[in-house]
Amino acid sequence: MADDPFENMLAQMDRAEEYADVDHGVFERLKHPERTLKVTLPVELESGEVEVFEGYRCQFDSARGPFKGGVRFHPSVSQREVEALAGWMTWKTALVDLPYGGAKGGVICEPKELTDRDLERLTRRYTEGIRRMIGPEVDVPAPDMNTNPQTMAWMMDTYSMYEGYSVPQVVTGKPLEIGGTPGRVEATGRGVSLVTERLFEYLDRDLTDATIAIQGFGNVGSNAARLLDESGANVVATSDVSGAAYDPDGLDVAALGAHVDAGGLIEEYVAGDLRGSAGEGDSRWDDPDAITNAELLTLDVDVLIPAAVEGVITADNVDDLRASAIVEAANGPTTVAADKALTERDIQVVPDILANAGGVIVSYLEWVQNAQEFSWPLETVNAELERRIGTAFDETIEQYDTEGLPDLRTAAYTLALERTAKAHEYRGLFP
Ligand code: GLU
Repeated sequence: MADDPFENMLAQMDRAEEYADVDHGVFERLKHPERTLKVTLPVELESGEVEVFEGYRCQFDSARGPFKGGVRFHPSVSQREVEALAGWMTWKTALVDLPYGGAKGGVICEPKELTDRDLERLTRRYTEGIRRMIGPEVDVPAPDMNTNPQTMAWMMDTYSMYEGYSVPQVVTGKPLEIGGTPGRVEATGRGVSLVTERLFEYLDRDLTDATIAIQGFGNVGSNAARLLDESGANVVATSDVSGAAYDPDGLDVAALGAHVDAGGLIEEYVAGDLRGSAGEGDSRWDDPDAITNAELLTLDVDVLIPAAVEGVITADNVDDLRASAIVEAANGPTTVAADKALTERDIQVVPDILANAGGVIVSYLEWVQNAQEFSWPLETVNAELERRIGTAFDETIEQYDTEGLPDLRTAAYTLALERTAKAHEYRGLFP
């Protein structure tokens, strides 16, 4: 199961079905993506070689509005993964009540092995491949793993070249200069930090000095670490592909951030080779220990935040987990088998479709500003993000408490499935 994210998503839906007020026929419909396009992408690399890549765009459901979801560049991308991620986008946009459906795109590639020029060519070729199915009113891509504002700029430019005029609204997560919104880059991490604060309020626990382990120090993990550190929590461990850094007294998140921003690996940071200047000579910070990603997951901490890939909390390691709460910054980090064990052990899990919704919420705010041809200051964007994710959190808790549901994921799924199913019922079946 852990290696088939689509099966995992279906199992999550099945788990919620018995509690959701959804017609069984509509429910069955929701298990199938509307469509998936597969594209072949020949690219002449800077080395002179031609490499043929494979990409996808899955449009899962559009009952509630235009398709929405990111594009990921990663060696483990597959059609099934993209379809699972598009399903999760559908439940996410419904849960946080955005007027969108769900989609996802991906290209099978190892970005570390590609030059900037290669990446630009690949992005443009992929955009050409999917351009007939995207558009400001149809399907709006955004960044995901290994894609960023520059990737969105290339996508926006390619799409606009074919249209003959600038169409900023076709993608979100753009650079500010071409219609991006302040606050989008850190939005997912900010959302993760906000829901962690809300969870502690709900559990009547103090976040100050609570220990936090974050698997993954990319855009989401690093921003969540910084914001949680600022709100007084104690980030004791974090990792990247090279390994993890652990200090029970807390990591120097600012120094670690500077090191990684400069292109450094966590492994090098722990070894002290390239330790950034922010922490150097400051006696408050001890040298962190080197641990593995697997060890990070089983640390005895107050909160574990998986912020990397899918399927990391499984039947194999769930019994070793010692965190008292989990906030899912990644999409699909927990398998259904592990989920059941966590529920039995009373470990609260803030599910991905709530915990990492900050990104798509601010994408929506960007899209709205583009439509209005008007721009908002950062304070307005952050306040609206906080209001929207806070409302979704409160609604999920209310559903959990009043409906006597087994866990927060089931509560979130029942809300999302009911909202999406209602949209289908009102619209009816065509023709
Ligand atoms: N890729 C992000 C996610 O998984 C953001 C999607 C978007 O902004 O459309 O939620």
